[in-house]
Amino acid sequence: MTKLATFASGSRRGLYINKRRSRKKSLKPFLFIVVLLLIAAAIFAGRGKIAGYFEGIKKDEFAFSFNSPQNWNEYSEICEINKKFAVGIRYPLINDATNKAIENDSKQIVDELKSEIKQFKTGKGENRTVYTADFSVVPSGESFVSVVYSIHRVSPLREIDDIQYRTRIYNTATGESLTGEDIFNENFAVAVSHNVTEFFGKNPQYAPETYTPLFIDNTKPKVENFRNFSFSGNNLLIHFGAGEIFPSDMGAVIAQVPISEVFSDMKINVTGFTPPKYDVNSPMVALTFDDGPYAPSTSRILDALEKVGGRATFFVLGARVGAEAETIKRGDQLGCEYGNHTWNHANLSKLSQDMILQEINSTNDAIKQITGKDSLLLRAPYAEIGSVASSIAGKPFIGWSIDTEDWMKKDSQAIIDSVLTEIADGDIVLMHDLYPSTAVAAETIIAQLSQRGFQLVTVSELMAAKGKTLVPGKVHYHAK
Ligand code: ZN
Repeated sequence: MTKLATFASGSRRGLYINKRRSRKKSLKPFLFIVVLLLIAAAIFAGRGKIAGYFEGIKKDEFAFSFNSPQNWNEYSEICEINKKFAVGIRYPLINDATNKAIENDSKQIVDELKSEIKQFKTGKGENRTVYTADFSVVPSGESFVSVVYSIHRVSPLREIDDIQYRTRIYNTATGESLTGEDIFNENFAVAVSHNVTEFFGKNPQYAPETYTPLFIDNTKPKVENFRNFSFSGNNLLIHFGAGEIFPSDMGAVIAQVPISEVFSDMKINVTGFTPPKYDVNSPMVALTFDDGPYAPSTSRILDALEKVGGRATFFVLGARVGAEAETIKRGDQLGCEYGNHTWNHANLSKLSQDMILQEINSTNDAIKQITGKDSLLLRAPYAEIGSVASSIAGKPFIGWSIDTEDWMKKDSQAIIDSVLTEIADGDIVLMHDLYPSTAVAAETIIAQLSQRGFQLVTVSELMAAKGKTLVPGKVHYHAK
């Protein structure tokens, strides 16, 4: 937060220095001429010719010192320079579909700024009003971009010298410029008002200022209070110019709101964000099934999961994947996760580096061919990893905290008991979907756990929900 606020004022200072420097250099010859003209004017013709001073400097671009973002090379500019003011906007060129809308929006912004400038008294000499709008572009989702204009305003005599914002969201496939009303429903302002207040309330520098009428009025749940917003990763950024919600000398500020906080209010998902299918505040466990797929058993397990809206992680053998493509497709559609259990149930601790990679990569390829996704997790057969596989695997190994010993027991009730008697939030359960006795047990386990309020999630979901970081080559046993 502090960083963002500092960024705004830092860029302001940069502009200011550039402007003065370039002016100083280019003005020297003019000053000399002006002095001569003044003398001539005083002696021969009065003061009339001093107007020429403005004509002289208006083409030296003294007014503008644009900063362009490093991620964007293509741009255009609209600049208007006259005696009273100078307004310049540099805007990005994105593609043929979008450029017309961007140009129109840029013209509209320039018009808005010009009408704002009319409120200022005309300054003398270089003390005219100068507005310089720089852009930044952040792509989001599949075909959207956020364009943020940082407008450096300098009024006559520098009574105002600050940063303001204008933002635009474009659909680069259609060229459409999207407003807040296009993207969000009416609850948006309520959610953002709450989150912006919370965001600044957590920051010691800004917290005391959140009780002022300025802040309270301008963060009320009204759409017009949050008209400048952009998307960046999994965050919605709300931009406030200097003086909008805090005193002007505190500069421009940007509030960060997690997309998850406003996702339910979005009519169009412009972010690529997918909300988690679990509630982090309720208990959850990950059921895992090794050595499959085997349609007669696996399908029964998928049926049971589907009934309760649950998911599981299947550590499959690459050699079985091709023949079980339909089973895997269905599991993938239900949100199940496919982990890598090697191609042929290999003992990784006894293999050469090349053979380890062969076992892992061929299995990953087979899974990816069906799901289109990389398999992110490994489970070593016999729980034998060895130092070589540990160092070259490049992915985390997943162990378990409850072992049903189903492959040995082949007794559904015993398997059910081994899970239901000790399961707790964060557990990872080991089973094998090769056996009918396991499928029968899983049907009861899945229904019972769901009834007890456990969410049935994948291992990746479990780890993400519990804030556990998965480390390549290391074994992770649970998320308790
Ligand atoms: Zn196995």
